[in-house]
Amino acid sequence: MARGVTDLQSKKPHIVVLASPGMGHVTPLFEFAKRLVLLHGCHVTFLNITTEASVAQTQLLHSPNLPPGLSVVDFPPVDLSDMVDDDASPLTRLSINVQQNLLSLKSILLEFHKPQAVVIDLFCTQAFEICKELSIPVFMFFTASTYLLAFTLLLPQLDRDVAGEFVDLPAPVQVPGCSPVRTQDLIDLVGNRKSDNYKWFLHHLSRVPMADGVFLNTWEDLEPVPVRAIREHAFYKKILTAPVYPIGPVIKESEPVTETGAECLTWLDEQPEHSVLFIALGSGGTLSAEQLTELAWGLELSGQRFIWVVRAPNDASATATFFNVGGDKNDPRTYLAERFIERTRGRGLVVPSWAPQLSVLRHRSTAAFLSHCGWNSVLESLSHGVPIIAWPLYAEQRMNATTMAEEVGVAVKIVAEETAGKRVVGREEVERAVRMTVEGEKGKEMRRKARELKQSAAKALRNDGSSNGYESLARVVSQWKVNGKI
Ligand code: UDP
Repeated sequence: MARGVTDLQSKKPHIVVLASPGMGHVTPLFEFAKRLVLLHGCHVTFLNITTEASVAQTQLLHSPNLPPGLSVVDFPPVDLSDMVDDDASPLTRLSINVQQNLLSLKSILLEFHKPQAVVIDLFCTQAFEICKELSIPVFMFFTASTYLLAFTLLLPQLDRDVAGEFVDLPAPVQVPGCSPVRTQDLIDLVGNRKSDNYKWFLHHLSRVPMADGVFLNTWEDLEPVPVRAIREHAFYKKILTAPVYPIGPVIKESEPVTETGAECLTWLDEQPEHSVLFIALGSGGTLSAEQLTELAWGLELSGQRFIWVVRAPNDASATATFFNVGGDKNDPRTYLAERFIERTRGRGLVVPSWAPQLSVLRHRSTAAFLSHCGWNSVLESLSHGVPIIAWPLYAEQRMNATTMAEEVGVAVKIVAEETAGKRVVGREEVERAVRMTVEGEKGKEMRRKARELKQSAAKALRNDGSSNGYESLARVVSQWKVNGKI
């Protein structure tokens, strides 16, 4: 294992950041690590779980231009074949992967002469005991919405009180101090309480209160109600005694751009201002063959310009590329009708697997984002003032989509029809949502609101002495310095 930190004796706090595999966690924690180094004078070692890491993750963490003071240390690969069945659920697989890697955490931390703090995500909670033994404080960086945090902190109680499945409850789940969650919007990890997925989820979130502090990837203008609830509501004050720090939006500021990515940006350069719909379903999102065809038709019927990040269809799973994103060299011509590509040539661009999302969202030609509403995608879109067509697929994306559409007013939700037990979004619905968002009045209103949030996001991160994300993080770093006698 390479040891990258060369100057651990310097008068800077040394912080270890540990993320579970998957771009949705690695990206914000890595960005957080960079901020600690560049803005707050810390040394950071980012621990990289290489087992089952995607190509995109490896590219991000092994990019050549890391700022001095930030090191990436790879865990050696672990053989999971005897420990996890091939058909294990994603969270089971991920949790066992993390567990096996963390067997060496104690020796790593000792080798580092005990850092001032360890920052983890929700699925690395095995680190709590190890750090406690070494008297190292552990902070949690919650990568999803604060609304989801509020719901998850309630889950242990729901688990005790509710007899059947949560999805069968006759009424929405009342979340203290926040809007109720409709059962159809519940995070899919709680959809089957007998599943290993659920048990792992409950295990990890029951341990959030063990953290010495929780960083929230949000800002108050985006989620005023959940942030207030977590801070002030008696229910949360009782179970989460550690302070919470809204420090968001923590999103990537740059990204590796491949040759295909560069071509996509050149194409955007040639399009009129605010004219292009960007379609990307996160690092894991895939559609069924039927859904892919309907989306293609809807895009064509809408007559709007688009960039579409496409992946080979998968009828069995909506998260088919979660662990190998960026690695599947797919050829859209094998699954998209040749005529579709021909007919939309010049007006639409099809990009296989992966596009430089951040660069596309900040481009002047981009008008709207058809997104699965992963939290990072939501933050990236709003930080650039781009309204959303919400097409949630898995995890907590339905909750995010509902909040963005019904409370924040920056999204329109796509409506799926149920036929013969299958939920499919028809071409007319795609056409309606795209037209409405790119050229309609509703789209203008959503864009206005998204731009307001863009301004307030920038304000939350400004180093101007006001009470905001920058100041919150600065206060924690000062505390680390005091505790470490630095
Ligand atoms: N992403 C990207 N290009 C793509 C698809 C996704 O750069 O073609 C990035 C996106 O910018 C975001 C992350 O992948 O940072 C997806 O995270 P999110 O939380 O939105 O969804 P998840 O992948 O966890 O479902």
